[in-house]
Amino acid sequence: MVRHLAFLVCCAVAQSEGDEYNSAAWLPVAAASAHTKERAVTTNLSDLIRTIPDFPIPGIQFKDITTLLGNGQAFAQVIDTLAERYVGRNIDAVVGIESRGFIFSAPLAYRLGVGLVPVRKHGKLPAATHRVEYELEYGSNKLEIHRDAFEPGARVVVIDDLLATGGTVAAACELVRMAGGRVEEVAFIIELAFLNGREKLKNYPVYTMLQY
Ligand code: AMP
Repeated sequence: MVRHLAFLVCCAVAQSEGDEYNSAAWLPVAAASAHTKERAVTTNLSDLIRTIPDFPIPGIQFKDITTLLGNGQAFAQVIDTLAERYVGRNIDAVVGIESRGFIFSAPLAYRLGVGLVPVRKHGKLPAATHRVEYELEYGSNKLEIHRDAFEPGARVVVIDDLLATGGTVAAACELVRMAGGRVEEVAFIIELAFLNGREKLKNYPVYTMLQY
């Protein structure tokens, strides 16, 4: 059986920005859409993701996204794809899961014109938090979110780089609920489908760009 490492992850949830802020967001998204059309070719994203065997410990097939991030056209393609998916859906905040989720959630929040809320590892957020502890294959992780991260009922998209067993994002979604937000969708660049992470996410729509 393929061993899996679930890393410590934290989510962040942004303050709800309100409807008028969503309207303002149309401009950067439209501008970026024009940018998308100008791209001559569409990059095959999976060509830019490396699999590193036995990192960080033996048995893990680590999906390395640094090669994708280092390609400006491919990185823009990822953010454009996410922005085009969520524009017009009255999203109030983007939640990024620490740490690689921050890489994608920050530009997405900017493009949508909404706030970014981090879900972070235990002890990193300075104000009052909600906390969720969840099981890993070995041991457990604790994630936190600021209690005042959202307006009640805020519509939220949760972003991480990779869906493996789903424990991390399930914990992040629970934190969103505890803080008064509503998860509209969870989104990932990569899904390790053989680990059946979607089983833990039955209550939420799941979007993934690349499946392995
Ligand atoms: P999980 O909670 O099992 O869905 O694990 C998801 C988190 O662990 C994500 O934040 C990923 O960045 C990280 N992760 C798990 N497995 C891998 C892998 N094979 N390659 C890269 N990152 C991974």
